[in-house]
Amino acid sequence: SQEQNQLHFLIIPMGSPGHYIPTIDMAKLLAQHGVRVTIVTTPVNALRFGSILDQAIESGLPICFLEFSFPYKEFGIPEGCESIDDLPSLGLASALMQAYRSLQTQIEQYIEKLDPRPNCMLADTFLLWPGDTAKKFQIPIVIFDGMNCFTLMCNHVLHLSKVYESVGDSELFVLPGLPDRIELTRSQLPFTFSSTIKGMSDYNEKLRVSESEAFGVVVNSFEELEQGYVDKYQQEKGDNVWCIGPLSLCHKDESEKVQRGNKSSVNKNDCLKWLDSQEKGSVMYACLGSVSRIEPAQLIELALALESSKRPFIWVVRAGHKTEKIEKWIDEEGFEERTKDRALLIHGWAPQLLVLSHPAIGGFLTHCGWNSTLEGVCAGVPMVTWPQFQEQFYNEKLVVQVLRTGVSVGAQKTSGLLVDEDKPGELVKSEAFLKALEIVMEEGKEGEERRKRAKELSKIANTSIEVGGSSHRNMTRLIEDIKKLSKK
Ligand code: UDP
Repeated sequence: SQEQNQLHFLIIPMGSPGHYIPTIDMAKLLAQHGVRVTIVTTPVNALRFGSILDQAIESGLPICFLEFSFPYKEFGIPEGCESIDDLPSLGLASALMQAYRSLQTQIEQYIEKLDPRPNCMLADTFLLWPGDTAKKFQIPIVIFDGMNCFTLMCNHVLHLSKVYESVGDSELFVLPGLPDRIELTRSQLPFTFSSTIKGMSDYNEKLRVSESEAFGVVVNSFEELEQGYVDKYQQEKGDNVWCIGPLSLCHKDESEKVQRGNKSSVNKNDCLKWLDSQEKGSVMYACLGSVSRIEPAQLIELALALESSKRPFIWVVRAGHKTEKIEKWIDEEGFEERTKDRALLIHGWAPQLLVLSHPAIGGFLTHCGWNSTLEGVCAGVPMVTWPQFQEQFYNEKLVVQVLRTGVSVGAQKTSGLLVDEDKPGELVKSEAFLKALEIVMEEGKEGEERRKRAKELSKIANTSIEVGGSSHRNMTRLIEDIKKLSKK
């Protein structure tokens, strides 16, 4: 039968929007290339992924779900909580990962009964265990960690050189052996380099092992964006590195752009109507991703800067476990009322792709999560960069220094919130936001050149996924590589 001959990928995403959104996009893209995909999921995630995939399935793409139960109770996780952004406290993150680990047995029982076996497993790196399952059934595994080659190389050279070990926390040092002179402080590095968080170096080592034992690595990026870093990473890892992004570009229609991740907190038509009423390139869009938990006092500084810019803006209000506090401030201050002539506040989840692709957007204030950053690149808008933690400080360097399409607000260190969410981090003042925002939006020569570069990159991004483009070629190469393995 056709099913018997069709290449079959088993996809295992991880529970955080920044991971499962691009993984599901990848599933859709593989299906568009004729691969049959099965996505491992759990009850609540099935609903979230479903909204992304409904259309794909309706249009006849070969995608199906494999739904397993999720052991909330056993691991002390609130009922229905399958994603890091839904956790009442980030202290439960490791319990959540443990709960994910318990899916392994269910997945292995499924594979055991399957004939023929899947041709490939594609799994999130951070899960760690899919590599063991793949080994057990002799299925090639390709891993995905949601980052870019720039980040992978930064981590790589830091790990090899250990330069960060001999410097003070706020002392700038150069990351050795990279194509550009990239400087950071120890306080800006991902937690995996932390000496104070227990178990980090152990975890780091496990990640490296799972990466090196995998058949290859898929990257949500495109070669032209970071060629020097792609080349370096391939020198390290061999040819089995496939840059197949930007994955968000697999959504073409407005309705697909809305159905991504969570249910949008704003009505699509209201949002478009508001955007349509704004001048081209005039709106600053401020959104800080799905997991960062930012102190209300810090969000107030941001809000005041957006207000005093006198420019139109969209602000996505989300403070995780402290959302109530910031909503109370907005309410008491009458902030929404007082800015209503030129501001749209989205309380909760924004239809980010829809917003970013609207011509009214002139700038993106981002926390530099890789998905958001790349979505900003695709939209061709300059960025105001405000990294929070993990690899976000690397991404800021890529945008500000290498691509030269962004301006930094000047954050000095990772916010402590992932480690201790009640310990306030550094406070970035409203003046710093305002200054960066004005530089990005100004009409002068520098601003024009920045906008031009951003537009140019967006064009290249869009070409890379078309037939003949680098990412399209890499996707074909990945599929061919798996086919060859399957014939052996
Ligand atoms: N996102 C969205 N609406 C929101 C917030 C986030 O659609 O209100 C999407 C965003 O488009 C991106 C993902 O969620 O695809 C967030 O991933 P990213 O890597 O930027 O950041 P993280 O949430 O992992 O920090």
